[in-house]
Amino acid sequence: MGTPNQTLDQKYMKMALAQAKKAFAADEVPIGAIVVDSEGQVMGRGYNQVEKKHLQTAHAEVIAISRACKKVGDWRLNDCTLYVTLEPCTICMGLVGLSRVKRVVFGAQSTLFGYQLMVAVWIDLTRRLRRLPTISTIMAIPPV
Ligand SMILES: [Zn+2]
Repeated sequence: MGTPNQTLDQKYMKMALAQAKKAFAADEVPIGAIVVDSEGQVMGRGYNQVEKKHLQTAHAEVIAISRACKKVGDWRLNDCTLYVTLEPCTICMGLVGLSRVKRVVFGAQSTLFGYQLMVAVWIDLTRRLRRLPTISTIMAIPPV
């Protein structure tokens, strides 16, 4: 038994694991995700469907967040928590930030594509190159 929050986290992580089992049954990499609002309502569910959709962005988190946005009727998920069985990749963490998800709880760390490793690799690469890539804007509208 943990604190009430740990108990709730475990409850929602079990729901994310149930999504991951759906992915496994469909011969996908078994990753599942759940988006929960501040009232504890499940707003979105998703499981990995990269093979089925032939699409590298069909990650469990993307599907769960997309469904949550549709249900909420807003792209802002300010008070929501994302539960995902595996550490999100950089694409998904970008989406988490853009969608203003308040909290992320993940099960296992990903030593292959987890965002923490990818950020570390990116920083290491830029240090090795001793420069950052040049990023340009063209025909940009000045900030107001
Ligand atoms: Zn991802």
